[in-house]
Amino acid sequence: MSVAALPETQGLLEALIAGQLPDARGRFGPFGGRYVPETLIPPLERLARGVREHLHAREFQAELAAQLTSWVGRPTALTHAARLSGRWGAQLWLKREDLAHTGAHKINNAIGQALLARRLGARRIVAETGAGQHGVASAAACARLGLPCTVYMGAVDMERQAPNVGRMRLLGATVVPVTSGDRTLRAAIDEALRDWVSDPLGTYYLLGSVVGPHPYPYLVRELQAVIGREARAQMLAATGRLPDAVIACVGGGSNSIGAFHAFLADGAVEIIGVEAGGRSPKLGDNAATVAYGRPGVLHGTYSMLLQDADGQVQETHSVSAGLDYPGVGPEHALLAAIGRVRYETASDAESLAGVRALSEYEGILPAIESAHALAAAERWARAHPGGTVLVCLSGRGDKDMPTLQQTLLAAPAS
Ligand SMILES: *Cc1c(COP(=O)(O)O)cnc(C)c1O
Repeated sequence: MSVAALPETQGLLEALIAGQLPDARGRFGPFGGRYVPETLIPPLERLARGVREHLHAREFQAELAAQLTSWVGRPTALTHAARLSGRWGAQLWLKREDLAHTGAHKINNAIGQALLARRLGARRIVAETGAGQHGVASAAACARLGLPCTVYMGAVDMERQAPNVGRMRLLGATVVPVTSGDRTLRAAIDEALRDWVSDPLGTYYLLGSVVGPHPYPYLVRELQAVIGREARAQMLAATGRLPDAVIACVGGGSNSIGAFHAFLADGAVEIIGVEAGGRSPKLGDNAATVAYGRPGVLHGTYSMLLQDADGQVQETHSVSAGLDYPGVGPEHALLAAIGRVRYETASDAESLAGVRALSEYEGILPAIESAHALAAAERWARAHPGGTVLVCLSGRGDKDMPTLQQTLLAAPAS
């Protein structure tokens, strides 16, 4: 990627570590910002003010900490994967976000933003969802706080992810099918933004990853950074040192940014983000945005993007619905450009093998998303015998049983 050569990326790692990014315009170096219609500027400004005023205030942090401890189940465990370590030749440690309430890291963000919404006086919440995991986390957080919740979901996704639609409804949310555009996550985000604009004072838009216009990439990163803060302290307590490498899967990029942030200043720690390599490196066959994309604007932010030669955003493919997004958070685009994080891919097949390995050797059925990070961890371990690697296990795999039935558990073709 030629962006690495830009002089404007110099000194940005130091600025990021010092907490100076995003800047006042919401930029992570050349990336990020706010590319939205005029009507969205006032509500985004109001949200940014609310974030500045409350997010790091003592009272809000106490409220958040209480929910994280008593309801989400934090701190989540750090698990030594002893049998896989023996097989792979390096010590594998897992940060267990699969043990968080609703089964993934997404709840850290959902409960944090729902608390913020209540503090800002919102009367209702809107959210988008693709595979349904963020919708479920949002519905649960809203039920907990007594806030009405409307979730926009592509009609195609509603069919593919029927169990999560049922979960959201049981949790009291209204699920609205989106039949416009591509009838998947992209169109659902557009609809949620439209709803927000029609009632910007009474409604709060609860976005699910480190994407979208400023201040969302910053807000969601701050709420997910608890993953890396806990994991860093837990690694020091368990092993007396930092890991040699930290690895996480990258969809929009929230569990990975959350896991990485506490380690950015630890220069000796290698940091690796793993994107969905899908079926092949061909456009349309994967969702590996940093690996195969080019800079462009999607959903209000300037970042890396899977697009064709004319700038048309491309459909993506991944066996894991949670990684199936053509964009990525602007902070990842910066971390790639300055070389602090290396981005790799894991294919559908490698990730399914990762699901099998963790299930059979450690008694943990991981989400297929998380198994992308495991596939990269196996590669890293075999290349670094005796080393220590920490993997962010972003979620549990129960939700993936229909896909696993059709793949790993399907009878071999005769
Ligand atoms: C949604 C999801 C992801 C991808 O989202 P990020 O914002 O990149 O973290 C990864 N793992 C699981 C289990 C998910 O539910």
